[in-house]
Amino acid sequence: MTNRNIILGLDGVPFELIDNLSNKGIMPNFNELKKDYTFKSMRSSIPHISSVSWSSIITGKNPGEHGIYGFSEIIENTYSLRFPNFNALKSKPFWHKEPEKRYVIINVPFTYPARELNGIHIAGFVALDLEKAVYPKKILPILKRLNYEIDIDTKIAQQQSIDIFFDELIRILNIRKKTFELFWNKLNWDNFLGVITGSDRIGHFLWHIYEDDTNQYHHRFLEFFREIDNIIGDINNRLKEDDKFIILSDHGMEQIKQNVNLNTYLEREGYLRLSENLKKYNRIIKASKAFVLEPGRVYLNKKGKFPNGSVDKESEIEVIDELKIIFDDLKFNKQKIIKYIYEKKDVYTGKMLNRAPDLILIENKGFNLKSSIGKIEIFEEENKFSGKHNENAFIFVNRDIDLRIPTVENIIGLLR
Ligand SMILES: [Zn+2]
Repeated sequence: MTNRNIILGLDGVPFELIDNLSNKGIMPNFNELKKDYTFKSMRSSIPHISSVSWSSIITGKNPGEHGIYGFSEIIENTYSLRFPNFNALKSKPFWHKEPEKRYVIINVPFTYPARELNGIHIAGFVALDLEKAVYPKKILPILKRLNYEIDIDTKIAQQQSIDIFFDELIRILNIRKKTFELFWNKLNWDNFLGVITGSDRIGHFLWHIYEDDTNQYHHRFLEFFREIDNIIGDINNRLKEDDKFIILSDHGMEQIKQNVNLNTYLEREGYLRLSENLKKYNRIIKASKAFVLEPGRVYLNKKGKFPNGSVDKESEIEVIDELKIIFDDLKFNKQKIIKYIYEKKDVYTGKMLNRAPDLILIENKGFNLKSSIGKIEIFEEENKFSGKHNENAFIFVNRDIDLRIPTVENIIGLLR
């Protein structure tokens, strides 16, 4: 008797989008499934970033345990940034918890470089070198024959045409589909996890085309999701009787209305002071009390923790209370920008809590929280991206079960 689990990840797909497109007949396979089984919106990680959310999905832990709070972090006792990868993950992914089972793991973001496991692993973005993205190495020639690519080259979206961008999205989706099929058949696995990341890219660059059904490319946006629905249908047709089939996203997506430079706001309010020389966070001088890392991770400039730290232990609570007030006050055209302000103790627990941001800001709809250092204006128009992440992910399970408030941390509890 096999107890197989299949997880199909659709990076960056909000509940509303897959609900809407399945209702409208663009995703008929998913529509049938959602009628019969469990389909709910799911809260993304805090913050709603792919690296954080996927780390929680595969480990079942919150960032306070697995230690991943974003794509970047400040190196201890400096103001220099580093970009952690899979090696920085402090909790085991599920494929290392039960090594007697066999796994196919394809294109999960933030699992680079690939490590040994019982099965095969092809890492997803950010993965610079395909050789290091793959375990075991002997599958490399197979991937090369498929013209395997980890990610779409998003420069095409700006430099060439929208037509070519859609062509590329479909081309890479087809490679992913073939790769799923190949390893589905080739190995005798217990757990299969495949992720599609084009759904995040299409959202970031072309979300306005989804929102506007008069746009000349609207049908091509729908075509991409029709292709995803074909993959869902193919997988569903291949299931054995007891197979558990989970489809989920790591976070949602929505239209960017306004960029908000939070460090510029901190400067304006007197909490951040910058020198004229040096670059980025190295410009922070002693008079600074706080700074922000993308998207809304607020760090106190603590004495003993940062080179020019100025906030001592006794005044931490006071500064946090002040910061809560100023971020709560932040408005654009009378609209409040920040929806929730979390203190780290409210949302994280675990051995990596000391790395956590002191406050995490979650934005109201349409506001894109940015953390560039030294920008003149707090509010800026966006000219590169169309969509941004939000916290509204989704989950589907081909069982009739009561998922009360599903979160990314309780996915692996569904595996058996
Ligand atoms: Zn993502």
